[in-house]
Amino acid sequence: MRVIVLGGGVVGVTTAYQLQKDGHEVVIVERQPVVAAETSWGNAGMIAPGHSFVWSSPKAPMILLKSLVLKDQALRFRFSADPRLYSWSWRFLMECTSEKARRNTLLKHRLAAYSQRVLQDVIAENDIEYDRNDRGILYFHRSQEALDRGVAHMKLLESDGQVIRVLNRDQVVALDPSLASAKDKIAGAIHCPTDETGDPAKFTRALAEKIVARGGTLLTNTTIDGFETAGQDVVGIRTSRGLVKGDAYVLALGSYSPILGRQIGIDLPIYPIKGYSLTIPIDGRPLPPTVAAVDEHNLVAISRFGERIRVTATAEFAGYDTSHKPSDFAFMKRVTQELYPAGANYDRAEMWAGLRPMTPTNLPFFGRKKYRNFYLNTGHGHIGWTMSHGSARITADLIAGRTPAIPMVGLLGD
Ligand SMILES: Cc1cc2nc3c(=O)[nH]c(=O)nc-3n(C[C@H](O)[C@H](O)[C@H](O)COP(=O)(O)OP(=O)(O)OC[C@H]3O[C@@H](n4cnc5c(N)ncnc54)[C@H](O)[C@@H]3O)c2cc1C
Repeated sequence: MRVIVLGGGVVGVTTAYQLQKDGHEVVIVERQPVVAAETSWGNAGMIAPGHSFVWSSPKAPMILLKSLVLKDQALRFRFSADPRLYSWSWRFLMECTSEKARRNTLLKHRLAAYSQRVLQDVIAENDIEYDRNDRGILYFHRSQEALDRGVAHMKLLESDGQVIRVLNRDQVVALDPSLASAKDKIAGAIHCPTDETGDPAKFTRALAEKIVARGGTLLTNTTIDGFETAGQDVVGIRTSRGLVKGDAYVLALGSYSPILGRQIGIDLPIYPIKGYSLTIPIDGRPLPPTVAAVDEHNLVAISRFGERIRVTATAEFAGYDTSHKPSDFAFMKRVTQELYPAGANYDRAEMWAGLRPMTPTNLPFFGRKKYRNFYLNTGHGHIGWTMSHGSARITADLIAGRTPAIPMVGLLGD
């Protein structure tokens, strides 16, 4: 078949890769001049099954309420005239029972762990350099009580196969000596040794090159405006370069999927949740981080990509606004500088903001929708780089009519 993949983020490109592997002719349609130029560019790069906990948890309603009155650094809720914000928030709140949070977390962990296995296959099949770091991720806490709660919380993922090691502060510093000067701030950490990191944009761009080298088509600078349908089929997508036709279509437009989906009567509860990141060159500083870390108290994530570090933080309801100003980054920069004072050249930090395509369940949408030849692979939220490879394989399997390698109960909107 000739399959048109709508969107050239990490989800679209990995989907095209798996479809091409199955023998299909693939066309990726992307509005930016290069792939991975929007959300898939500036994220923390964590391949983190250990971070599969859903945001729609019993704690979330109180965190949301607090964010209305307190100037919270991690979560910023803003009222808006957009009715979709309220319908999405209502659906999100409906997922916040402990039973649903547990179910959704386990489903997400299953998908994330599978996805990491698919990533290993893709790396084995292709020579791709993307500043991979496989020393695990440290989820660290600043008080013993918080660490104990974190360890108890982690039992859920551990029961599903996640490997965890609980480290005291000395062991944390032994694993990553760059944290030595911040030792007193850290009570201990949960180290997930099988979690890893890597630059998602570097990976996605290299993979797109492989796809093109093997005969795939990459239509960049091409904006999708709408669809042509006939009866039960989509027969083409209308773009700034004219009609693009295929036998099947995969919607992988991240936060923009609901905007295009609505045009053909597909309602997708995906809402953009803005996040911020800094990319900071190490510039010869003597003690850069050597293991990725999440400061669970401040909700700041730090990864090392070769000679750069990437710092991310904040969940903000700001609609489709990706603008940013220096004050948005002050807190995360200060936290990182305190943790790794000799870790990077903080004066040369590059600022970025992007939109997480969040669903109320925190699980993506898969499978055929409304038309015989129209498929979804979208809504990967806060760990879309982690879940992309498995989601891509699942999508290729569903299009082929094959049973995916992991049980799909609960992952097909059921
Ligand atoms: C601050 C932050 C930190 C994060 N950290 C991590 C992390 O550590 N680990 C992790 O796994 N995930 C992380 N994520 C989440 C991850 O980045 C996303 O889930 C993932 O990038 C989503 O990929 P996507 O391909 O669905 O979306 P996108 O990357 O947004 O791709 C969609 C593409 O569609 C294109 N497009 C949209 N509309 C049109 C149109 N009309 N016509 C043509 N093209 C169009 C866009 O240009 C874009 O390239 C983070 C996200 C943020 C914001």
